[in-house]
Amino acid sequence: MSNWIISNALILPMTERRQSFPGYVRVRDGVIAEIGSGAPAKAADDDAVIDAAGCALMPGLVNAHTHLYQVLLRAVWEDLELMPWLKRIYGCARVLRPEHFYAGSLFGCVEAIRSGVTTLCEHNFLNPSPECAFETIRAIKDSGLRAVFARTIMDTGEIVPDCTKEKPEQAFRRIEDILAQHARDEQLQFMTGPNTPPINTTASLLKEIRRFADDKSLGISAHVAESKSVVECVRREHGKNGVVEFLHEFGIPGPNSIFAHSVHISKDEICLLKETGASVSHNPVSNMMLGDGVAPVVEMLRQGVNVALGTDGAASNHSQDLFDTMKAASLLQKVHHQDAGVIDPYSVLRMATAGGAKALGLESICGTIEGGKRADLIFVDLDTIHNQPVNEVFSQIVHCAKAGDVRTVMVNGEILMRDRRFMRHDPSQLIADARQANGDLMKRLSNLSF
Ligand SMILES: [Zn+2]
Repeated sequence: MSNWIISNALILPMTERRQSFPGYVRVRDGVIAEIGSGAPAKAADDDAVIDAAGCALMPGLVNAHTHLYQVLLRAVWEDLELMPWLKRIYGCARVLRPEHFYAGSLFGCVEAIRSGVTTLCEHNFLNPSPECAFETIRAIKDSGLRAVFARTIMDTGEIVPDCTKEKPEQAFRRIEDILAQHARDEQLQFMTGPNTPPINTTASLLKEIRRFADDKSLGISAHVAESKSVVECVRREHGKNGVVEFLHEFGIPGPNSIFAHSVHISKDEICLLKETGASVSHNPVSNMMLGDGVAPVVEMLRQGVNVALGTDGAASNHSQDLFDTMKAASLLQKVHHQDAGVIDPYSVLRMATAGGAKALGLESICGTIEGGKRADLIFVDLDTIHNQPVNEVFSQIVHCAKAGDVRTVMVNGEILMRDRRFMRHDPSQLIADARQANGDLMKRLSNLSF
């Protein structure tokens, strides 16, 4: 069933600044067929009616940067800065098994659905065996989410275990295998990229990645300038002022590139992002947790750079909750600039919807409620103590609403969660499976020294 009429909703289409109105949305074959104010005309025989009274109906949220399996590593390595923390995250590849990726990724997807995410970008970077990527993709498909799987590559670096270093031709062959197997999957797109340049990618790999991405028409996802230490490395080893400047030499920033973090970038680099059309995934909770710094989000938005929002993995967040992230994104800029008016809630919500869709090359598919786009929709319950009374709905979605207010989630016209009940999965079974995978992983990790 994918023909629906959703009625009695407060619609936030995210197409026009601060526009909201009471109305309905008609979905035919998984596509938004009609949006109107007031009550809909009579339903067709095969339409199912959903009464959304008391709810805001919004485009599903887009989590533009995460590592799903890391839900198994929540609160494992605490109070560490990026480099010592990364050493442990990378070291984990020595004991991670494909079954950990499946259990963790499915659990992460379900947590994402529960918090109103309908599209996510899985930035995949640990591949001790090809099955790890395949099992992550299988979990995403089983969840019903729309996703971009960014299969990145590492070929050097002191803290990178040998089992995850790849020669370019070997990595490209593996990516081609993934593309061949999932070529016809409408809800799944692919990217490639250097994981965290330049600390784990050589200059020759960067050249090869640009060529391969062009050849296969793939976008590029990378961790960029997350901490000062990465910028110090690019200055010391490559004589460049910053990571974006360095990557520009290889043609990496472009309209199909998404740079996670971009915390330590200069004004000139912000201009480079704008000129090349590259997008940024801002991950404020992760940045705060690792003590990275504050990304120049306001400056990027003022320059016209497309900014999306991401949770990052649960090992540095510790959740997959994009409502948390929206509130953090808003408050962090206000306190950083010591200016309460420096960012407005509509802009924050736009980053989490249309901005994310654009960053992932999906702007014609999702990110707004518009006729012809796929029906990726969420119902946010406003009839709760902490959301009432509603005075300014965009501010209240960003600053008052919680993940638990998401009542119903639809992707491609399929309901994945209805009235907070998962349609594809039994949460108690998922919790049991995640605990088992976590127990096994922790046992294996206890044999490693960092
Ligand atoms: Zn990340």
